[in-house]
Amino acid sequence: MTSERIRRTDGILAGSGVALVSARSLQAVVLASLVILSPGSAHGFGVVGHAVASAVAETRLCVRAQEAVAHFGRGRSLGQLSSWADEIRYVPAWEHSAPWHYMNISDDEPLERYRTPAEGDVLWAIDEFEQRLGNEALAFEDRADALRFLVHFVVDIHQPLHVGRQADRGGNAIGFRIDGERTNLHRLWDSGIIARNTGSRDRYIAAVMALAEANAVDWAAAAPREWAAESKGLRTFVYDFDRAPGPGYLDEAGRLLHQQLARAGVRLAATLNGIFCGSRE
Ligand SMILES: [Zn+2]
Repeated sequence: MTSERIRRTDGILAGSGVALVSARSLQAVVLASLVILSPGSAHGFGVVGHAVASAVAETRLCVRAQEAVAHFGRGRSLGQLSSWADEIRYVPAWEHSAPWHYMNISDDEPLERYRTPAEGDVLWAIDEFEQRLGNEALAFEDRADALRFLVHFVVDIHQPLHVGRQADRGGNAIGFRIDGERTNLHRLWDSGIIARNTGSRDRYIAAVMALAEANAVDWAAAAPREWAAESKGLRTFVYDFDRAPGPGYLDEAGRLLHQQLARAGVRLAATLNGIFCGSRE
């Protein structure tokens, strides 16, 4: 985003084609969701991660994308729509959606050679629901579901272990204790690392927002396969511990998650802007 797109004046984010959003009221909304919602989701970035990335995206939508979110989201915010895909994955009618939250790829397989399996994966799902959301020939219900899926999956693919090794089920099979509590590597990256930051939520959101603003132009231009390649590229760090992640690992993981959530927010907005305004900016 260019500097003239958003100007910060008296706590107001303003710019042509961008909603007038009070930074303070936005933060209040995110803080409320952080307080109310526990970060204990078992699958996908936890509820808090989705809420933070969605809040970043909300500040970056073009006017027509804002209107489309209000319409197809039935008046709900991106944050309020963002965890539906996790809530319905065990409902029989939606069981087939479970593989859409992640992808398995071995260490030595380049993303360019990767092929989506028959049941689908997160790369397929992002492409599919992006197309459906923009397809004016489809029924309202189909496009409303497409929005709810898209909002979720663009964020999930930024969780490094959602672009995972099949052998350990994306880190789910790697258990350990942290602060006396049993957890596993996947859950740690879904919600455990974010939960460690609850003492400084103001700074957490501010840090993610600042990263998003500083890097938006580069990040918005990348394609989903590049998003997946970035997540896969974090593997060297993600697996770099002995029996259990220590304090140094957790600090660095926290910084990496700021970056991943900021990227996810920027790209969620870019995807929606591309559909409804014809430009990813
Ligand atoms: Zn998910």
